[in-house]
Amino acid sequence: MAIETKNRMSFLDEEIKTLKDEGRFITLRILEGAQKPVSVIDGKKVVNLTSNNYLALATHPKLLAAAKKAIDDYGVGTAAVRTIIGTMDIHEELEKRIAAFKGTESAIVFQSGFATNVAVCQSLMTSPEDLLISDQLNHASIIDGGRLSKATRKIYAHKDMDALKKILESQESRKARRKMIVTDGVFSMDGDIAPLPAIMDLADQYDAFVMVDDAHASGVMGKNGAGTPSHFGLTDRVQIQIGTLSKAIASIGGYVASSKSLRDYMVCTARPFLFSSSHPPSVTATCLAALDVLENEPQHVKKLWENAAMLKEGLRKAGFDTGLSETPITPIMVGDTKKATEFSNRLFDEGVFALAINFPTVPRGKERLRTIVSAGHTPEDLELALEKFAKVGKELRII
Ligand SMILES: *Cc1c(COP(=O)(O)O)cnc(C)c1O
Repeated sequence: MAIETKNRMSFLDEEIKTLKDEGRFITLRILEGAQKPVSVIDGKKVVNLTSNNYLALATHPKLLAAAKKAIDDYGVGTAAVRTIIGTMDIHEELEKRIAAFKGTESAIVFQSGFATNVAVCQSLMTSPEDLLISDQLNHASIIDGGRLSKATRKIYAHKDMDALKKILESQESRKARRKMIVTDGVFSMDGDIAPLPAIMDLADQYDAFVMVDDAHASGVMGKNGAGTPSHFGLTDRVQIQIGTLSKAIASIGGYVASSKSLRDYMVCTARPFLFSSSHPPSVTATCLAALDVLENEPQHVKKLWENAAMLKEGLRKAGFDTGLSETPITPIMVGDTKKATEFSNRLFDEGVFALAINFPTVPRGKERLRTIVSAGHTPEDLELALEKFAKVGKELRII
């Protein structure tokens, strides 16, 4: 029996060999202890420039205390989906807080940012007569949401407003029942910002609505970290704001901040909401505490941007190409898979962890290291990192 099963799935050996041949086989690095700006990873203490723990909230005492208290008050899980009996008072409280934070009428929380994007695309775009228009570099969860929707999909070249206009002007677009333009607020691989004012103008001109995924902008950009619509003064014009609770907020989850009617509609139709259980109360309480911290401790966002400026300036001075970055996500362009991987591995030996990003995550020729600085890094951490970047960068003839 066992032998037969093995034979029937021997294709996995072939698939894994292909992954290894193509340099796409992943070995997990193991974090020992908490997610921190300086962490112990695979037994080695390193300056951690890889996590999305932008504000170092993963170990903030107020978040830890809130999570512990919620376990005492509410137990460890809900054992139900939201629509049955998985909605506790704190779940509702969090949605109200998110709406206030984002400056919208209403909000609805999902299990993850990934689930949120899938839910919105699938719920709103239900016919081939609907048109989903997406930036080429949008996140995988938007791509998968589009695939699960019934909509016709069009992709425009990254941030290319002429290309977007062309799609909106097309016959197909003029005949469409609904048109949704979707963009990341901050793009995760390059750290550049969506041209939201131009997108909103085109959307108004061609009667489309806009969904902005601010996974990397929430807690980072705008008033108290409210995101890119706040940053651009477009809060009242952007129809749908997506955010994650898994990055700067340092817990897990995602949300849609929008109108009350969208919330009502999603409660009835969004499949991850209807068919997957709700967050443990400790997660919800952690997120509430994080929003308190964003409101009352503006020093974290300020420090994040100071650290980002220090790292970026140091890298540029050393002669590295930091690409298009305008945010705390700073790529270091390498342009070769082997070299990017070697760069990352050698840095790790030296006590600095920055991830190599290769094809197919980025196009060939655009291989890079990606760094994400946190508010918790000290100037000494960043000086050490810069010294090691320069040392290994010279050794590998990247600079
Ligand atoms: C990380 C990310 C997500 C997924 O968020 P999770 O909460 O981790 O599922 C969605 N969109 C973008 C743009 C992201 O960067």
